[in-house]
Amino acid sequence: MDVKSRLEQIAGRDNVLSQQPLAAYTSFKVGGAADYLVTPGSMDQVAELLSFCGQASLPWHILGRGTNLLVSDSGVRGVVIRISDNLAAVSVCDATITAQAGAILTRVSSMALAHSLSGMEFAEGIPGTVGGAVVMNAGAYQGEMKDVLRQVQAVTPQGDLVSLSAGELQLGYRSSVFQQNRYVVAEVEMELVPGSKMEIKEKMASFSRQRREKQPLDKASAGSTFRRPTGYYAGQLVDQCGLRGKRIGGAMVSTKHCGFIVNEENASADDIYQLIRHVKQRVKEEQGVELETEVQFWGQFGDK
Ligand SMILES: Cc1cc2nc3c(=O)[nH]c(=O)nc-3n(C[C@H](O)[C@H](O)[C@H](O)COP(=O)(O)OP(=O)(O)OC[C@H]3O[C@@H](n4cnc5c(N)ncnc54)[C@H](O)[C@@H]3O)c2cc1C
Repeated sequence: MDVKSRLEQIAGRDNVLSQQPLAAYTSFKVGGAADYLVTPGSMDQVAELLSFCGQASLPWHILGRGTNLLVSDSGVRGVVIRISDNLAAVSVCDATITAQAGAILTRVSSMALAHSLSGMEFAEGIPGTVGGAVVMNAGAYQGEMKDVLRQVQAVTPQGDLVSLSAGELQLGYRSSVFQQNRYVVAEVEMELVPGSKMEIKEKMASFSRQRREKQPLDKASAGSTFRRPTGYYAGQLVDQCGLRGKRIGGAMVSTKHCGFIVNEENASADDIYQLIRHVKQRVKEEQGVELETEVQFWGQFGDK
């Protein structure tokens, strides 16, 4: 049986696309085609897909909402498994919220608000999935996933379901064990605390206002391009190098927030990649600081 037929057998015919451009699935709005884009309907299917890819030596990637990704213009080889609105159930029991990995993080924070539960306010305005947020230990405004995570169900690359407690997740600044072990996050349990609905609402509104004031939310981006270097702010370093508004092709250092690289005008992934390189080089030369990217790269780029 050929690869496409086997993928269709696992996930259903309508849920397997060949040579599907990924630009529409990423917040940068760039990126070439995946050999196969599969949207499974259950975690059992995810497990089966991983085990098939292993046996067939096919490379695979997990795609959430693509809000922290730069996909190369030449796309990605193998199978991209999309875990987004297809696996997005959320439930609340007392102070515990259980969410499938594809649930949008802001839906979880809205549900927390509706149930007067505090702890997820920081997530207001983070556009990714719960799975992506666990992998990245996403955070903002002095809050992060680490503060609320209790348990994660995950699928190993061999297709086995495992349960990990928060202590096993090695959660650090925008990092987790999942960036090393390539387990797929399936379901997440978050422990919140009962609070005042009014205060939770005000906090979320304030975070949302700060984002609108400071971030270029009207432009395609992947949020902060760079990780925060110890003792500095990436945006400030970039600004001090005179790079505000710097363009390569259609990619630009945001004039509103220098920590964001935006797709200003029909940028290619290569434009964005070259601009990231340029910014890193200038900041290294002029400020002596090595910037690291927070954005994840898929596929082949220039000299990478
Ligand atoms: C306007 C804007 C603002 C942002 N603000 C913030 C912010 O304040 N704080 C912050 O931390 N981030 C922020 N981000 C970045 C991004 O939203 C987060 O990193 C988010 O958690 C990524 O989720 P995603 O579903 O989009 O993941 P994707 O971008 O799809 O994937 C990111 C990585 O996680 C992996 N992954 C995704 N889902 C799974 C899964 N279920 N199992 C295993 N691996 C998986 C992918 O393979 C990839 O390596 C912002 C982005 C934008 C565009």
